[in-house]
Amino acid sequence: MTMADDFFPKSSPGTTGLLLREQLLFERGVRGRSGASLPAAGVPEADPAAEIPKELLRGEIDGLPELSEPEGVRHFVRLSQWNYGIDSGPFPLGSCTMKYNPKSSEAIARLPGFAQLHPMLPDEDCQGALQLAFELERALSEIAGFSATSLQPAAGAQGELCGLLMIRAYHARRGNPRKKVLVPATAHGTNPATCTLAGYEAVPLPIGPGGVLEPGAIAGKLDEDVAALMVTNPNTLGIFERNVREIADLVHSKGALLYNDGANLNALVGVARPGDMGVDVMHFNLHKTFATPHGGGGPGSGPVGVAEPLVPFLPTPTIRKTIGEGGEPRYALDFDRPQSIGRLRTFWGNFGMWVRAYALIREWGPEGVRRTAELAVLNANYLRKLLEGSYQLPFPEETLHEVVFSDKRQKEHGVSALDVAKRLIDHGFHPPTIYFPLVVPGALMIEPTETESPEAVEGLAAALRAVAAEAAERPEALHSAPNRTIVGRLDEVRAARQPILRWKPPSSPQR
Ligand SMILES: *Cc1c(COP(=O)(O)O)cnc(C)c1O
Repeated sequence: MTMADDFFPKSSPGTTGLLLREQLLFERGVRGRSGASLPAAGVPEADPAAEIPKELLRGEIDGLPELSEPEGVRHFVRLSQWNYGIDSGPFPLGSCTMKYNPKSSEAIARLPGFAQLHPMLPDEDCQGALQLAFELERALSEIAGFSATSLQPAAGAQGELCGLLMIRAYHARRGNPRKKVLVPATAHGTNPATCTLAGYEAVPLPIGPGGVLEPGAIAGKLDEDVAALMVTNPNTLGIFERNVREIADLVHSKGALLYNDGANLNALVGVARPGDMGVDVMHFNLHKTFATPHGGGGPGSGPVGVAEPLVPFLPTPTIRKTIGEGGEPRYALDFDRPQSIGRLRTFWGNFGMWVRAYALIREWGPEGVRRTAELAVLNANYLRKLLEGSYQLPFPEETLHEVVFSDKRQKEHGVSALDVAKRLIDHGFHPPTIYFPLVVPGALMIEPTETESPEAVEGLAAALRAVAAEAAERPEALHSAPNRTIVGRLDEVRAARQPILRWKPPSSPQR
């Protein structure tokens, strides 16, 4: 296809040049080539064999590439430029809440006093870190309306497990851990997986025509075997659950508890508090709500907030504040919690994520926290408006913080959500989430978050409208997209079934 093209509006940042190919380092190199080196030492060199046991010493490495310094640096810089991140442009993955991370929080997390703390330090030698953790725990409890919060879980999914283990411990203490957890059809896949891991049977709940949970659908499924109901608010369709208070009362009337998947809290912060709606336990995704970098397997953090009845079951250690004899505050890790579910992981949690979240909350203050939610919802609704003429909207009446379209109109031309997502890459954007949530066939789920300016939302919408126009006029062109990338359409099934995990040296390596 041609590069200058009617279907590529000028506002698309898609690149048309400077697509640099890159060999493997192992396919390059010349013997004896290296970067700047220090002059020979004036003292005898240490013999590693004298210091390190022989079996731990490696011999010659076959085919280790030898390169000049710029060759090595350029290789890695080019690879980094192939990558698309939130610092490159809008990252519309719905459900994942990919947002920009202020560099000020990054700088604070890198301060040596935080970044180089050893986790085994005695409490008295890391009072500042403990104070930060204590204050973050209090801030999160305040923001979401809970009695206490544990910062320990490593991510949202582990937060869910932590929550359900506390629910199990709560019921067990009353004599019966119960057997089932009710999970709406719109839930993230981690919810039913967590139920299984915590020893519960996940029972799916249908959603109502408006895309939300209706109390009527729950009443029939609630019995004395139900340990909890897991609700996600706003849910994975991007829609605000309207009946949480009523659902909480129903659930509590049977002695069960209400779990809130808080991954979408960035649409509620500063506006409404799950704890006030009757939620007993909720996980936060610090990496979605309070902008800590994630994706590509980077670390997350999934603190869990609880209402009073679950406080005794929080994982150990918790952080305790006391006032010393001179009136000064002292912070300590508290392991003395007999009803605790115990430890969830090694050491204390993903501390660097706590620093970023804490820095952001302090920077924003209550007004800024609230503004996050307002802008996230505004951006999603703006995008919906800009695209409703081009893509089918399964739930057109709703207020959202992320917007779910379907490929129904494009399907009439034989174009799928996958084709749309792949063509968007040619326009210079990361694809949105596709085929999730499962209740919408051919779903295209987009979450601009509060990060994006109106112009950025408009640019993304212009590209998606151009893709829809192309789908109607020359649908076959989309089946091979992307066409402007270094690698084209990948065989994803083969990549998953027959992954090539080991590099084979070329027959004639370096010169
Ligand atoms: C992201 C997400 C999760 C899982 O959180 P992780 O931090 O990725 O483990 C759970 N539920 C919802 C709704 C999510 O969006």
